[in-house]
Amino acid sequence: MKCQSCNSELGPGSVVLECPKCQTKIARCSKCRNLSIKYKCKCNFEGP
Ligand SMILES: [Zn+2]
Ligand SMILES: [Zn+2]
Repeated sequence: MKCQSCNSELGPGSVVLECPKCQTKIARCSKCRNLSIKYKCKCNFEGP
């Protein structure tokens, strides 16, 4: 799986969450999580 925000391989500390709108799995690496970079789902939902 790859980070939704920066597209890099997931390392330790990464999280996988579900889009509240369409339940698609969204992965974020620890870096993007720490920086609170927004993610965008394919359904156009954007979250922190
Ligand atoms: Zn990332
Ligand atoms: Zn979605």
